[in-house]
Amino acid sequence: MNCDLVISNGTIVDPVEGLVHRDIAVSSGLVVGQFMPGHAPDATEILDATGMHVFPGLIDAHVHFGFAQPITEYSSETAYAAQGGFTSVLGYFLSSESYKDVFDAEFAHARQRALVDFGFHFSVTSERHLEEMNDYVTRFGVNSFKYFMNFKGEEGRYLGLDGTDDGYFYALLERAAEIGEVTIVVHTENIELVNRFRRSSIMSGGDTLKDWNLSKPNFTEAESVIRALAFAEHLGATIYIPHISTRMALDEVRRWRDRYDRVYVETCPHYLTHDWDADIGAIGKANPPFRSPDDVAAMWEGLADGSIDVVASDHVPRKRATKETSVWSASQGFPGTATILPVLLHHGYHAGRLSLPRIAELLTSSPARIFSMNGKGSLAPGSDADITLVDIDKVKNVDPEALGSWSDYSLYEGQALKGWPIRTILRGQTVMLDGTITGEGGYGRYLTRSPVSGSSVGS
Ligand SMILES: [Zn+2]
Repeated sequence: MNCDLVISNGTIVDPVEGLVHRDIAVSSGLVVGQFMPGHAPDATEILDATGMHVFPGLIDAHVHFGFAQPITEYSSETAYAAQGGFTSVLGYFLSSESYKDVFDAEFAHARQRALVDFGFHFSVTSERHLEEMNDYVTRFGVNSFKYFMNFKGEEGRYLGLDGTDDGYFYALLERAAEIGEVTIVVHTENIELVNRFRRSSIMSGGDTLKDWNLSKPNFTEAESVIRALAFAEHLGATIYIPHISTRMALDEVRRWRDRYDRVYVETCPHYLTHDWDADIGAIGKANPPFRSPDDVAAMWEGLADGSIDVVASDHVPRKRATKETSVWSASQGFPGTATILPVLLHHGYHAGRLSLPRIAELLTSSPARIFSMNGKGSLAPGSDADITLVDIDKVKNVDPEALGSWSDYSLYEGQALKGWPIRTILRGQTVMLDGTITGEGGYGRYLTRSPVSGSSVGS
């Protein structure tokens, strides 16, 4: 047998088996198998990965498209993802209309431009979304839906949405449990408390990241987590808590898991590297806010002990200019996909906090399993040949321009981080090599994450 590609002499980072010295053979975009060094079948191309660590292609399960450049972001932000070693991204799609009416156009924009594989979580905000949820699963292959506990009543209507409440949330989880194999991503925030705290925080004249945190203190996250878990357990639904940021909330999840374990938890790189004393002004505005140094320590503990399942970016590709104002009016979030791995290697692995297999689990097998990304997050035979070659000792300064996001800054700008991806391979094709994009927009495929009936999506 002759295969297309053999990656030889590398160290495979397997979330379960650990570090293994094996060669990987690839044919027709799929992994053929792993072989003792030198024992792989003949190949058209042999790639010598001596000194490199070979990860399954990385997955960013939390990105946002369309905040600034709705269409072209599919080009720039997926190239940026490839720069960071990512072969798959899941974007949040938010519309107040029926997804049956808006999916095809969004899909077409993405399908023509994406350089890496992509999928969507749909945000559910209306009764119609609730009624049509099963259709979204079968027609679009989407099996994760986002609910914002903070888009309540007036707050939701202000954003052009219907404005929901706990009754809607209850019905949503009930529906998800009925359909089965569906995960509800829950933004946990008690907006009624936040509105009150926010008024007093603004009235006190504060304009720092600490004041921003005071408007959304840890209890407002923890209490919502408890409520979401109580609803989920009662109804038998599966929930996923994105961007967890506080020890208080994480401790509640740990407590609850003893009685109900269908809950997954994600944190983001910035909650591992920045606290409320970060001296970067409104650049550091995110929701949830940067927390205390103890909360940062808690996030690392959660990654190490397994209570946090996924690290994802919450990538928002707006320009720096949208941050250069008071903390109350600055935009929220920042770009993040391409720096996830260097942050976890530099501050996690090289600091003795996380093993390489654990980092691989957080960025590959865990999101693939939770979000039913078939063929992804694994280097087992038959998987997509999504492979990220990593030089864990490479030191490089973070240069936003070189990483290629439409946004023009990074939280880590100018910082020297140790550990970078040097080659990103998607379904057997190299799409990024040594910081140069070698893939093409439109190569990225849509990720169907549940059985889709009828014709293929978007056709
Ligand atoms: Zn987000």
